[in-house]
Amino acid sequence: MEPHYRRLLLKVSGEGFAKQGETGLDVARVGALAEQLKTLTAAGVQVACVIGGGNILRGAQSAELGIDRATADYMGMLATVINGLALCDSLEAHGVPTRVLSAVEVHKVCEPFIRRRALRHLEKGRVVVLAGGLGSPYFTTDTAAAQRAVELDCDVLLKATLVDGVYDADPKHHPDAQLLPDLSFAEVLRRQLRVMDQTAFAMCQENDLPLVVFNMNAPDGVVRAAQGENVGTLIHN
Ligand code: UDP
Repeated sequence: MEPHYRRLLLKVSGEGFAKQGETGLDVARVGALAEQLKTLTAAGVQVACVIGGGNILRGAQSAELGIDRATADYMGMLATVINGLALCDSLEAHGVPTRVLSAVEVHKVCEPFIRRRALRHLEKGRVVVLAGGLGSPYFTTDTAAAQRAVELDCDVLLKATLVDGVYDADPKHHPDAQLLPDLSFAEVLRRQLRVMDQTAFAMCQENDLPLVVFNMNAPDGVVRAAQGENVGTLIHN
């Protein structure tokens, strides 16, 4: 591959770790991601990966679960640690050196997130799996991804989801909705398009961090996005 970015942050939503429409972990899907990350690191791209937890638990489900919101958020953060360990195991099985760093300390199984340590791992060519979100309730892993991408001086935030990109209307309700391949942050706000939560979005815009939203199930989607190919939607200033 021909890398387009020196260092990137990949955000993978937890749903991408489960079989379609199911919860829990699908090892084959985790393996398919690890395979692509192997291609990236072999080409010299430095990769940090923020993992979601929606395949296991989301804090927003707290009311239906009858659990206090902040507690449910901590449970969601721990879910991202489970996903992070699964990805780490799969990457190592593919021969890719990896470290899991968590914002919620779980020191028996992973390192704490320390910025300078994360940078050192990246410079050494290790995939840095960032678990635990930001370590605080009432945030999402999208916000963690935007914040860590800025903090770790990444060139881009690649947001791997289950949709092909940003549309001019919700494709679930409008079958003729059009995919928008290139947008400015200002245009997203003006047209009230849904990309990610406002905190995450503002973090990208204010720090001039380009964002690519693409479908993680597209063949070689992660590799193609890292090559700067036109996958999904590119949003920039
Ligand atoms: N979470 C949190 N603080 C963070 C990141 C995550 O409280 O900094 C919790 C929150 O409850 C969230 C859950 O962890 O719903 C799982 O993350 P998210 O929903 O972002 O995962 P994804 O939708 O990407 O799978």
